[in-house]
Amino acid sequence: MNVFLKNKKEIADDTILFGFEVPDAAMSYKPGQYASLKLALKYPDEKGPERFFSIVNPPDNKPGGRGRRIEIATRISGTGYKQTMAAMQDGDPAEITRIGGEFILPKDPDQAVVMVAGGVGITPFKCMLDHLVSKDEKRRLILLYSNKNKANTAFYDELSQMEPAGYVSKVYFVMTRDDTWPGPKGRMNAGFIADNISGYQKKHFMVAGPPSFVGGISQALEELGISDVKLEKFFGY
Ligand SMILES: Cc1cc2nc3c(=O)[nH]c(=O)nc-3n(C[C@H](O)[C@H](O)[C@H](O)COP(=O)(O)OP(=O)(O)OC[C@H]3O[C@@H](n4cnc5c(N)ncnc54)[C@H](O)[C@@H]3O)c2cc1C
Repeated sequence: MNVFLKNKKEIADDTILFGFEVPDAAMSYKPGQYASLKLALKYPDEKGPERFFSIVNPPDNKPGGRGRRIEIATRISGTGYKQTMAAMQDGDPAEITRIGGEFILPKDPDQAVVMVAGGVGITPFKCMLDHLVSKDEKRRLILLYSNKNKANTAFYDELSQMEPAGYVSKVYFVMTRDDTWPGPKGRMNAGFIADNISGYQKKHFMVAGPPSFVGGISQALEELGISDVKLEKFFGY
C-alpha cells in the first residue's frame, strides 16, 4: 500500500516520529502490531530497503480498527535506510508491504499487565495506551520504561499524564545514565521488579525493545519464576 510522508518531528534525542498519510483505503490493524515500511533508498544499505516498525498511533474504534494515517518512531543512525528516512520530505512516497504481529493486549480487560519498554520499544505500548484513552477504557496497567536519560525518553510528557488520568496505575521512568534523575536509576533487573511490582507472580508481562534489552528482562522474569510473558524483540538493533 502506498503511503506519503505527511510530517516528521523530533520527539527525543535522535528519535523522530514519522507520520504517513494512507490515501487509498484505511489500513486495518490492532494496537501493538507492526508495519513493514519499504523506502526507495537514496543511500545504499546492505540490509535492503525494508524494516519493521511498531505502529505508534491507534486505529479508530470501529470494529476491525482502521487508520488513514500511520505513525512510526525510530532512532536515526548512519545506515542507508535511516539516512534515507531522515532525508525524506513531506509528500515523499513509501510503501507499507505488510502489517502483522501478535504483540497485543490480553483479551481479558481485568488481566493485570506490566508493560516493560526499552528505549524505542515504547512504540507499541504508546499505541495501546492511546487506544485505551480514546475508548476511555481503564485497565490494571503498570509501565516500566528504561532510557539512557530524560532527553532520550520519547513521549515523556504524554506518558507522565497517563498516571494522573488513571489509565496507568504507575509509570516508572528508569534512567541508565542520568546522574541528575531523581527517580530510579540503573539497569532494570529482577530485584527492581520484585521490589516495585507487588503481586508480580500473577501479572502478565509484555516486554518490547532492542533484543539485548528484551533478553535481559526476560532472564530477570525467569529468575523470578514469571512465565506469563510476551516478548517483542526489535530485531535489527
Ligand atoms: C516487530 C518489530 C518491531 C519493530 N519496531 C521498531 C520501532 O518501533 N522503532 C524502531 O526504531 N525500530 C523497530 N524495529 C527495528 C527496526 O526494524 C530496525 O531493525 C532497527 O530500527 C534498526 O535499523 P537499522 O537496520 O537501520 O540499523 P541501526 O538503526 O543503525 O541499528 C543497527 C545497529 O547499528 C549499531 N548502532 C546504530 N546506532 C548506534 C549508536 N548510536 N550507538 C551504538 N551502536 C549503534 C548497533 O550495533 C545497532 O545494533 C522493530 C523490529 C521488529 C522485528
